[in-house]
Amino acid sequence: MKEAIWEKKGSLAEQLWNTGKLDFPIYDMHGHMGPAYGIYFQNCMPADMVAHMKRIGIKHLVFSHHETLTGFKPNPEVVEICREYPEHLRMYAGIIPQRTEEIKRDLALFDSWKPYAVGLKILPIYHNHKLSDKEYDYALSFADERALPVLIHTWGNAPECGIYETLCKYPNAKFFLAHCCFGAWEYAERCVKETHNNVWLELTAVPGERGIIEKLVGMVGSEKILFGTDLPWFDEYQAVGGVLSADITEDDMRNILYRNVENILGKDW
Ligand SMILES: [Zn+2]
Repeated sequence: MKEAIWEKKGSLAEQLWNTGKLDFPIYDMHGHMGPAYGIYFQNCMPADMVAHMKRIGIKHLVFSHHETLTGFKPNPEVVEICREYPEHLRMYAGIIPQRTEEIKRDLALFDSWKPYAVGLKILPIYHNHKLSDKEYDYALSFADERALPVLIHTWGNAPECGIYETLCKYPNAKFFLAHCCFGAWEYAERCVKETHNNVWLELTAVPGERGIIEKLVGMVGSEKILFGTDLPWFDEYQAVGGVLSADITEDDMRNILYRNVENILGKDW
């Protein structure tokens, strides 16, 4: 019988299976926080999330609070949550296109939120917009001037959301395409390869699909893929397991789980 991947001596999969951790820090670049839609989440409050991160060795989770994205919890309140867990929590400032005054107010404060705020989170479809709509111009120009990360929600309908055209307009911002334009893989590839070398694919939801990580690594290279989970929607053990079970090299796995982020943001952030 073929040896199971976690039985392979000295492999990263064996290390996680036997010790519950890896010998390097993991960065989870896509999280949320708090209740949403009456769904039961086992770990959605800050203390529980941080305890969970410590179990598997997540150095930083970069999240956007569910209630910020729905408009009820302003970004400045989320900064205060991060301050309570300065070692572990980092945030994306949530951008709601309908709230133009709030966007300006928050971005005027953004520099004072370092090191907690590392970038912006944009969900065009949830907010009934395309990324190319003018309501995002101010925030995207702000990110472009400062070369900030911008995590953009994408799915298979990304081609209809003005994603590619907008990426072309901002050569300095660092765009992370959440869910890798799930299903529209060729479009995701184009977004990475035909822009300004400033676009990465973020893996949330992909590790649950067998064979897609391999496909994406083949298309864009592991240097262009970042790890994320949507915690508390998905569990980091499941997602890390998906990466370690993929038929890619251990160098690829390391790129995805930590090296790429350290190349983008450094080791100390
Ligand atoms: Zn998300």
